[in-house]
Amino acid sequence: MTPELPRCGQLPVVLPPMTDELLSSWICRHAVFYGVPPVTMLRHCLSDASAMRAIDLGLTTEQGAHIAHTFRTDASIVRRMSFANFSPESHRLIAAKSMQFCANCRRQANSNEPEPVRRSQLLGWRITCSQCGSSLSANEGNAIASPINSYWTEALNGQRLINDEAEHGVQSWAPPLELARLLLMQRDPRTTHLKRSGSFRLLGLIVPETDSVVVASQVSLPSPASPILPLCVRTALLAGVSIVDREGPAMLGWLQSKTIGQNRTRFSELATTMLGIPPESAALSLLQHI
Ligand SMILES: [Zn+2]
Repeated sequence: MTPELPRCGQLPVVLPPMTDELLSSWICRHAVFYGVPPVTMLRHCLSDASAMRAIDLGLTTEQGAHIAHTFRTDASIVRRMSFANFSPESHRLIAAKSMQFCANCRRQANSNEPEPVRRSQLLGWRITCSQCGSSLSANEGNAIASPINSYWTEALNGQRLINDEAEHGVQSWAPPLELARLLLMQRDPRTTHLKRSGSFRLLGLIVPETDSVVVASQVSLPSPASPILPLCVRTALLAGVSIVDREGPAMLGWLQSKTIGQNRTRFSELATTMLGIPPESAALSLLQHI
């Protein structure tokens, strides 16, 4: 028999959260348990809440306290289930819904219950499960065996760098998320022998296998509207971030020399801002500053 949701106040039965479970997933599992729509369960805790995603991304201290009270747990636990600690710059790389999964953890889940969504299933910079470390699989499409996999160790370091920045505000000489943005800028088309205009990015100069994989798999490279890379190319981007981070600022000067026209101007603007070089000097070649 489905237990009844009380009119207000604390829930009589609380389901334990899974490791790394997303806050909205936990609320939705309770909605199923009590036989009510997810939005009803959400408003049981927060009367003025309208969207689960807003709670996942921007949970306030007050909202966290209300949810913790309803679910009879600690507010710090509720906060850790959300992305409230993640930097606003990282939010564009957090998908609206689950886009990847860990086959290893899914095998161990109880198939009779709604499947919990882990936070790492939404993160556009993850290639491994935050729980068991296995490589993630895309929800849609088959895995593509690619030469990029030889950069796996480097990519794991890139994943750590971006995660440390997004979740803990840690960075070395440059923010890894900005390095990723620079690596995805278009490069001089004369730097490739492959025939496909407009889609070759600076990343292909650091991880040369990227170009052929992009052509072979026909993936759409990121745009402002769709900034998250598919897993098969994400590995290359993470490896690229790791390599540039290790090589230091001089590599940015070299990358800039492989851009032309407006892209060169834009690269210079982004890189000088990132490195804290005065804007009045931005018109000069980046190479002169580093
Ligand atoms: Zn796992």
